[in-house]
Amino acid sequence: MKNLAPSLVSLAKNAYICRQINPKSLTIMQEKVLQIRYRTYVPQEMSAADVELINAARQATYRSYAPYSHFSVGAAARLADGTLVSGSNQENAAYPSGLCAERTTLFYANSRYPDQAVEALAIAARGTDGAFLNQPIPPCGACRQVMLEVQSRHQHPMRILLCGEEVIYEVACVEDLLPFTFNSSFL
Ligand SMILES: [Zn+2]
Repeated sequence: MKNLAPSLVSLAKNAYICRQINPKSLTIMQEKVLQIRYRTYVPQEMSAADVELINAARQATYRSYAPYSHFSVGAAARLADGTLVSGSNQENAAYPSGLCAERTTLFYANSRYPDQAVEALAIAARGTDGAFLNQPIPPCGACRQVMLEVQSRHQHPMRILLCGEEVIYEVACVEDLLPFTFNSSFL
């Protein structure tokens, strides 16, 4: 009990001090709102170049290897020199060993064309019924992180098109898909 007494005194002193301070200055919790920007289009609005990229992503879904999920994703990237590359999800019986379409595409692009920035990436998917999804398909968190690395590596914003049959979402750069980014500046 002897040890307890001083701590109680200390608590009382602190409580007293707190009462002397303007309550507003003690308000340290703040709620903030982070906005991201994206555009929506109906497919008919897209430029010929975007239609070409989107169709490449759609076609890539037919090269998907998805015997487990039966969810076929395709991605297509337009590189700075105009080259189009595409990829699809590649699954594995050991599930974590598989890879998403977005990373398949970006890793291929950077390994085959290491000096070319990725200017745009389109993503499309077909569901278990084999039909293309009506709504845009969002990439997983791991793919967003890889997109960020590719964008940082080339110091070039990567425009991303999330493609549904009814609507297409466009973001101008990866940060709009991945706020509070972790990048090499923290290392
Ligand atoms: Zn992914």
